[in-house]
Amino acid sequence: MTIRVWNYLDEYEDERADIMDAVETVFESGQLVFGPSVRGFESEFAEYHGLRHCVGVDNGTNALVLGLRALGVREGDEVVTVSNTAAPTVVAIDQIGAVPVFVDVRESDFLMDVDQVEAAITDRTRCLLVVHLYGQCVDMDAVQAIAERHSLPVLEDCAQSHGARQGGRLAGTFGSAAAYSFYPTKVLGGYGDGGAVATSDDGTAAALRRLRYYGMEDRYYVVGTPGHNSRLDAVQAEILRRKLTRLDAYAEGRRRVARRYEEALADTGLLLPRTAEGNEHVYYVYVVRHPRREEIMAELKSYGIALNISYPWPVHTMSGFAHLGYSEGALPVTERLAGEIFSLPMYPSLPPERQDLVVKALRDVLATS
Ligand SMILES: *Cc1c(COP(=O)(O)O)cnc(C)c1O
Repeated sequence: MTIRVWNYLDEYEDERADIMDAVETVFESGQLVFGPSVRGFESEFAEYHGLRHCVGVDNGTNALVLGLRALGVREGDEVVTVSNTAAPTVVAIDQIGAVPVFVDVRESDFLMDVDQVEAAITDRTRCLLVVHLYGQCVDMDAVQAIAERHSLPVLEDCAQSHGARQGGRLAGTFGSAAAYSFYPTKVLGGYGDGGAVATSDDGTAAALRRLRYYGMEDRYYVVGTPGHNSRLDAVQAEILRRKLTRLDAYAEGRRRVARRYEEALADTGLLLPRTAEGNEHVYYVYVVRHPRREEIMAELKSYGIALNISYPWPVHTMSGFAHLGYSEGALPVTERLAGEIFSLPMYPSLPPERQDLVVKALRDVLATS
């Protein structure tokens, strides 16, 4: 058996009865679209965050697209963000014809270097899109101060940070709106695609509800701007409702796995993830760094361990984003990281004996490389 960074079957073994009951609940409800499961999940997810609204959508990428549109971002507008992220963050900006403007990340935690943001703002900037990457928050006091000074809305990409906190406050509750993905690997993941946008602003929420439903306010009548078909599936909503009650336990389980890595790998020369001050990390991925990444990953394969890289290419260097006009060297920290990082198996139901195999193999490989 190959050991991978993520395997939902370990969770499914524990939660099968609840998951299948959720499926049956929807199939027997007589309402396959929207209905009580979607409404229930939306209100419970908003309540978990202490926010007024949650609007379920079909995936995290569209949560970003709709979030940007609801916050007033249009074609030609600039959105300040990072290149050290999952490509969908940038795909979403590009999809509405807006222009991503990248700042670099910090060496210490690989998160947005907020000190660079102000210099990236121009009179065409319409939004700051922060990414709480890997499971911990960008310095939001600093972001909010800049946003207020320039009267800009802040959209939080929370696809990797469900349940993460900063200064005791949950990710997603700092900005004007927050976009979530419930893709199966995520800290709160469904058994298929899903997403949501959360906000406390009534007008933004109303815009989001129209935008996910063709642009309709009531059935069959499009008002304002034509929208998308971007509904959260009811089966996923019902599964997510059940899993939301376990979100804090999932996060704690991930921290438990992280602590075991810390204890077992501290003296190996591998650079382990650092939690920024004031942050509570949820370890969506456990990203380590080593200059001889390729060798290490290749050797681990012979132990039956297949690791991932999140992410091997900075977005601004991808040919699909050549039209943005960035050249190599533009974002030195981001580019350096991409060549040295890799991820260890991380999910709350990772069996300890399988984690031990990974640790043992890594220690062997690092002792000889
Ligand atoms: C997963 C992810 C997305 C996209 O979510 P999908 O549900 O796959 O569309 C966006 N941003 C980040 C940071 C992600 O990790």
